Amino acid sequence: MGIWSVITGNLAKRRLTIRLPGEAPRPVGFRGPVVLDEAKCVCCGMCRYACVSEAIAVGYFADRFTWEYRTGRCTFCGKCVEVCPSRALSQKAESPAACERPAELDAAREVPFPPCARCGRPALPITDTVLLKAFREIGEDVASWSRLCLRCRRSRYSMGVAAGLKPALGRDLRRPE
Ligand code: SF4
Ligand code: SF4
Repeated sequence: MGIWSVITGNLAKRRLTIRLPGEAPRPVGFRGPVVLDEAKCVCCGMCRYACVSEAIAVGYFADRFTWEYRTGRCTFCGKCVEVCPSRALSQKAESPAACERPAELDAAREVPFPPCARCGRPALPITDTVLLKAFREIGEDVASWSRLCLRCRRSRYSMGVAAGLKPALGRDLRRPE
């Protein structure tokens, strides 16, 4: 068959492709870009550790935690979402908008450290989701410890140990606060 007969034969055929009326349908379980809910993040860095594509970078500062996401590096595997202990990460159910450079879809977030309930210095945040995993229930004691910075938790713990030793030693080992 000559080329001209192929061309005229194709021109005579009806169109085989169709233009979709709206957005392309997505498969069930579609995993889009990763998003962070700062209110739930406990700044553990597990997402950074789990991401072998190095799409997530984290930073620790005196008063805040930073979280950066590079969409161009992400393979949308969902591993970071899976390992996040506080369910602070999720994946969008839709595709990102068209853009010229992948960097346009990058995200940078900050999680400010709340003040310690005892000394007021910035302390790492903790959420009920993580506390429940560790202690199964959140009693008054756990709740009050969770609002302290590491230094004040250490101090409170050592005071408790000293108070426990007092009857055996016959003297008070606790330092005044
Ligand atoms: S979805 Fe996968 S590749 Fe993307 S940031 Fe999370 S762990 Fe990294
Ligand atoms: S809490 Fe989740 S989002 Fe925050 S640093 Fe840990 S793993 Fe990442």
